[in-house]
Amino acid sequence: MMVFNDINEFKQWRLEQMGLIGFVPTMGALHKGHFELVQTSLNEADITIVSIFVNPTQFDNKEDLANYPNSLGDDLNALEDMGVSAVFLPNYEMLYPDDFKYKVTETELSQKFCGASRPGHFDGVLTVVLKLFNICIPHNVYFGEKDFQQMTLIEGMIEALFLPITLVPVPTVREESGLALSSRNQRLNSEQKQLAPKLNEVLKNASDAEQAQQQLTELGFNVDYVEDWNHRRLAAAWLGDVRLIDNVEV
Ligand code: AMP
Repeated sequence: MMVFNDINEFKQWRLEQMGLIGFVPTMGALHKGHFELVQTSLNEADITIVSIFVNPTQFDNKEDLANYPNSLGDDLNALEDMGVSAVFLPNYEMLYPDDFKYKVTETELSQKFCGASRPGHFDGVLTVVLKLFNICIPHNVYFGEKDFQQMTLIEGMIEALFLPITLVPVPTVREESGLALSSRNQRLNSEQKQLAPKLNEVLKNASDAEQAQQQLTELGFNVDYVEDWNHRRLAAAWLGDVRLIDNVEV
């Protein structure tokens, strides 16, 4: 497996690759949810590229950025065992020579749901994803339905900007309890970990979004939003200082 810290070396290597290129962008601290995206790419593409970059421009909260888990050694071992061709590990200076003066902004969906409580979050996401697409030049890109709003916005960007890329959605991977796997789950204490699966259970079983919000609040979640949109029930809720998101089909 090739591991690139240097953007020019990576671009050079990429130009030498033939066949269908699959790309999985991540922020590391990899778990089974990420591995499902990687495996889907390995099954479909000739070459699978994974990037690991904790993108500061999408963090509206400095503490969340500072506390973001990192397990680079384990991540690289796991990706190598799976058969990934290359891992790209850029840094901020490399990806943002403009220091984020140029941005991709979506003006409607990005303002709702997670965007309403995380101002600028999706500008950061769309901008870094477009930069990574332009560096990796993938045919297929793999995104998790767990981040349904993010996935929808990236699909929209691909369409709006005529990017010659196919987005492949990958269903949410969950623990047996129903809790959606997330790198941030590591920060839950044991009591919060017990309560966390209720987020999925309530979203699935409540008769409407309002009832779900009420039930979650009664259980002790600090609910950011629960809303039905596009045949999905989307939610974000805090347990202590950990913000959980999830969505289910309705
Ligand atoms: P992140 O490292 O959190 O930026 O996530 C990288 C990619 O993995 C995104 O496309 C996420 O939607 C996806 N992902 C994260 N958790 C899960 C999960 N539990 N199931 C499926 N995909 C996931």
